[in-house]
Amino acid sequence: MFTAQTIVKVLIPNVVNTGYDYRLTADADIGQFVRVSVMNRPYIGVIVGFGDSNLPNEKIKNVSEIYPHKLSVDDLTWIKKMSAWTCMTPGAVLRLIINVPDAFLPPRVEPLYNFNFDATGKMTENRQMVMDAYSSNDNTPMTINDLRNIAHVSSAVINTMIKKGLLTLCETKTIESNEFDYKYFDTGDVVLNTEQSAAANVIGAAVEQGGFSVHVLDGITGSGKTQVYFDSVLRAYESGKSVLLMMPEIALTAQFMTRFRHRFGAPPVVWHSNLTAARRREIWRGVLNKKIRIVVGTRSALFLPWQDLGLVVVDEEHDSSYKQEDMGNYHARDMAVLRAKIAGFPVVLASATPSEETLHNVDLGKYKILKLTSRFGGAQLPKISTIDLRESRPSDYLLPNNETLQHGCLSPVLCDAITETLNNKQQVMLFINRRGFAPITQCRKCGWVATCPDCSVGMTYHKRLGKLLCHMCGRTMQMPQKCPECSNEITMYGAGLERIEQEVNIKFPNAKTALVSSDTIITRQTLERLVTKMENGDIDIIIGTQILAKGHHFPNLTLVGVVDSDMGLYGTDFRASEHTFQQLFQVAGRAGRGEFPGHVLLQTYQPDNPVLNAICNYDRDAFIHDDMAARQVAKMPPFGQLIALIIEGEKENVLKSFCEDLSAHAPILHGGKIMGPIAAQIYQIRSWYRMRFLIAGDENANLQPIVSKWLSGVRIPANIRIKIDVSPQNFM
Ligand code: ADP
Ligand code: ZN
Ligand code: ZN
Repeated sequence: MFTAQTIVKVLIPNVVNTGYDYRLTADADIGQFVRVSVMNRPYIGVIVGFGDSNLPNEKIKNVSEIYPHKLSVDDLTWIKKMSAWTCMTPGAVLRLIINVPDAFLPPRVEPLYNFNFDATGKMTENRQMVMDAYSSNDNTPMTINDLRNIAHVSSAVINTMIKKGLLTLCETKTIESNEFDYKYFDTGDVVLNTEQSAAANVIGAAVEQGGFSVHVLDGITGSGKTQVYFDSVLRAYESGKSVLLMMPEIALTAQFMTRFRHRFGAPPVVWHSNLTAARRREIWRGVLNKKIRIVVGTRSALFLPWQDLGLVVVDEEHDSSYKQEDMGNYHARDMAVLRAKIAGFPVVLASATPSEETLHNVDLGKYKILKLTSRFGGAQLPKISTIDLRESRPSDYLLPNNETLQHGCLSPVLCDAITETLNNKQQVMLFINRRGFAPITQCRKCGWVATCPDCSVGMTYHKRLGKLLCHMCGRTMQMPQKCPECSNEITMYGAGLERIEQEVNIKFPNAKTALVSSDTIITRQTLERLVTKMENGDIDIIIGTQILAKGHHFPNLTLVGVVDSDMGLYGTDFRASEHTFQQLFQVAGRAGRGEFPGHVLLQTYQPDNPVLNAICNYDRDAFIHDDMAARQVAKMPPFGQLIALIIEGEKENVLKSFCEDLSAHAPILHGGKIMGPIAAQIYQIRSWYRMRFLIAGDENANLQPIVSKWLSGVRIPANIRIKIDVSPQNFM
């Protein structure tokens, strides 16, 4: 406890800050939230200790206000350790926590609008986006700012909608603060099977006992991992603790919400990036007051001001969306484990394909593994086999009124299987992880390739859009009629989603098809509509990218065809095989989850590839064993540590000479090495040039302080940005 008049250090949520000194106007505790002014701007900050500046007493300002709430000492330790691990400043970490600007002020009174669902008229794209914004917020009223931020529509569009009566001014001006006052209980609707109960009891005991432990819930697709961790959630909740359930955004489906409500008698409080400002505020305050004790959310939910956490569940723990890459670099799964270790509570990591980092921790005895080996309700795992494209060659086809032969991608064996499935009135999923129509647009004569003027990547032709699109920066361009260099004919190479759709429509003209990718699915709601159509049998063949691989349960889906299984096998980064394995395994897991057995066909030019063989034989252990052995030899994670430095510059020469300077000052590593600088694989993004260093060390190397010291010893010129990526997932 600090008494009034004490000079304390206050950390504010700002990247350059490690704390400023202020004088207390009343007694306050460490961790307590205070309002202070910095350069005449108000900030919410946190007391982190005694002040230590040498400023004369009269120069030190008073804190403007002391709030009754606080972060625990454990939270402060967590901020410090997270900062040390990620090389983010403590202020940058605090900014992740204090991410609701007006949390302690009375709610702002702004005009609120409801969506008029009764209004008739055409369903435009804007209107759909506004509707979706409302449904991701349980149709609560929204301010104009909310609409702009969540639906991404312009003020002009909003004003027109108001004029047309599509948006109506709402009577009540503030949001009900008891909105999230849910009481949860065990509805008794779910009875766990033997294997599930065994796993649930182990976690349950850890929850009740308290203390740090990590449980890897490793269950095959369809084994019912959700119900197992729901059991743990309930036990933690009933013992008075708070619980966080993290999942990838795309897994926050209506199917999931329904299951939650079934089990707990009330809906979950959901946290994601598309909430209205008022809801963010209510949830933040609710968690702080312990009125909200269960939150289901994306990675940023880890940074809510949790009080007395008793359990964190990380579902689909291998998912790459847990790694944050722009506003600071952190891995939410690992930071959750760090938090649990400091505060002393159990963590559950659930997945059908746990990451090798996690499995390595199991091998080391740091994490405990719990296995679910059979599908719930006795459904059989699908049979997985390869199709050798050298033997079953895809036939070319003609489009109506078009003489040129189109290059086919679907082999006769796959086509026969599709026909049979459709005849049985069952559903088909075709998977290809490439958006758009064709990835390469090239002149056959002079070799010209369509590339983005701002990024050093090729542009993909998107047929629906009717344009070339840069997948890096989103820039679009008209498709040229002829080669801009030599005026000869232009050809499109390679197959994306839209090209497969075209072939399906020609080869299966009577089938109802649907396309799923991040181009067509902008919101969870659009995905939701597709899921409903799938469930109602309004789709025969669903064609999609990795969005389809996750979480969905379609009982009548019996055939999964992977159009290009070779695509990820030879990626340039060391996780390529792991990611291919995980992705294909997850996609395969969509087939045959209901009463009919499923079948998965992998089209490939290399049917003997060990990764594909391991998938066909369900031999995950063999795959993991081989892949880990290779990594151990190469000292790659989890057998080594990596830190990437990404240096970006507006001017190429400034960037190059700065990197030379950095190189010249590079420290000597014992048991490690510094690689680079090299031009990044994507050398230019949004017209900034990019170079990379990679720092590699032993498994227990403490590289962070070395990197920090190195960087602090060089002068960083203007127009140079440095990103420190600890344990990078992305090497582009
Ligand atoms: P996973 O996440 O392991 O792939 P799910 O949790 O989606 O598996 O479970 C598969 C299906 O089995 C779901 O429809 C789920 O509701 C059902 N299920 C799992 N466990 C039970 C149970 N104990 N009682 C009733 N239904 C269950
Ligand atoms: Zn040309
Ligand atoms: Zn671009």
